[in-house]
Amino acid sequence: MRSTNEIRSTFLDYFQKNNHQHVPSSSLVPQNDPTLLFTNAGMVQFKNVFTGQEHRPYSRATTAQKVVRAGGKHNDLDNVGYTARHHTFFEMMGNFSFGDYFKEGAIEFAWNLITKEFGLSKDKLLATVYAEDEEAANLWKKIAGFSDDRIIRINTSDNFWRMGDTGPCGPCSEIFYDHGEDVFGGPPGSPDEDGDRFVEIWNLVFMQYFEDPPGTRNPLPRPSIDTGMGLERFAAIMQGKRDNFDIDTFQALIRASADVTNTDPFGAHKVSHRVVSDHLRSAAFLIADGVLPSKDGRGYVLRRIMRRAMRHLHMIGTQEPTFYKILPALITEMGTAYPELIQAEALISETLKGEEERFKTMLDRGLSLLADETDKLPSKGKLPGDVAFKLYDTYGFPLDLTADALREKGFTVDQEGFDSAMNEQRSRARAAWVGSGDNATETVWFEFKDKLGATEFLGYKNESADAEI
Ligand code: ATP
Ligand code: MG
Ligand code: MG
Ligand code: MG
Repeated sequence: MRSTNEIRSTFLDYFQKNNHQHVPSSSLVPQNDPTLLFTNAGMVQFKNVFTGQEHRPYSRATTAQKVVRAGGKHNDLDNVGYTARHHTFFEMMGNFSFGDYFKEGAIEFAWNLITKEFGLSKDKLLATVYAEDEEAANLWKKIAGFSDDRIIRINTSDNFWRMGDTGPCGPCSEIFYDHGEDVFGGPPGSPDEDGDRFVEIWNLVFMQYFEDPPGTRNPLPRPSIDTGMGLERFAAIMQGKRDNFDIDTFQALIRASADVTNTDPFGAHKVSHRVVSDHLRSAAFLIADGVLPSKDGRGYVLRRIMRRAMRHLHMIGTQEPTFYKILPALITEMGTAYPELIQAEALISETLKGEEERFKTMLDRGLSLLADETDKLPSKGKLPGDVAFKLYDTYGFPLDLTADALREKGFTVDQEGFDSAMNEQRSRARAAWVGSGDNATETVWFEFKDKLGATEFLGYKNESADAEI
């Protein structure tokens, strides 16, 4: 069996053999784009290269990129633990051509890697193309020998990538793996596409046009390639698993989570162990890249992730801080590929432990309040917004933690009521301030806070240059 670490190396070696420069992963905190919450794709560090603002001494690159999708446009947080294929932190493998090879080269590289180097059977694979991209459909027939029924034409934005309202854009082609008839799910574009049977493994973006002003597209003189392959999804296939959480890396973390809590990894707490293993990776990698838990911005997203994991550990039955005790297992699995984890081990460990100590007492009290309130609810009922707000404001429960706790019992939360309770508190705070003196800077401050959201930073809503892959 090939380990996830070996699969990563095979990918990078293959592209290096084909004259790609191996570029290290960039930080999870984007260095060139303040509007982006976290690095959410391999292409983020190359944005300025694609637009032509920046030049590199190479025209082909390959990376294993650390990615977090827990906010902004790509938010997979709520899926984690519940689907077989979504993580908040994952590694996106990629190959990039900056005006070098184009569509044919990209499809050929991808096809040869997965079928020859990795030996996947052609019968398990299919591809989507953008409905108007006949060229890509023909290349799939020529290179992979696909018949028409294995090439799915999609005419939505899922298969048309754009960097922003203006800039490079173009059609995509996604490669899917079929996990077989006994897994629920339909092919891409069908009503059941959200199941786990047909899993997207690799997205190829053909940057073919430049759009400016919006709506006006001109062909790029030297079109480019940007691709992203989910390492964990691919490892699942290579390891004969249908579920990403069954791969070696995750099993090691899940076992560690079960060990430190003295529970069965596959028993009643299975979902919790999955959530904990996923959130540990996000939290540890974010802290290693300099993010610390806080009241707003990136730090608040980190806090949400950490507290969510801590609630799950609490549910498993822990009394003492526990999250940090799983960290050594992560370092064993991923420290060689990502030495920043080893360098930051003490900081990560103390940050996890400190946060769990602080949150623990409020967590107990908040959960008992939540239990009292849910006892009053009819089945499939909605938790009133003011209760969710009290949990947030007094007990430090991020809204998504409350929603996650309710979800297990089939309840939902009144988001509008929560928002209006938040707004009311904001107006009260403002009235109190205005009473303290007529100071122009205070008014400006409140306008600023209103714009950004009060104590809860609700995410970077307008990611100007969000990455689709
Ligand atoms: P999906 O449709 O499955 O949510 P996507 O189209 O949003 O995936 P891309 O933006 O194309 O994903 O990212 C490139 C690749 O990264 C995907 O083909 C997939 O293999 C992987 N990937 C995307 N999101 C996740 C995730 N949350 N966890 C693990 N792997 C992911
Ligand atoms: Mg997605
Ligand atoms: Mg997709
Ligand atoms: Mg995709």
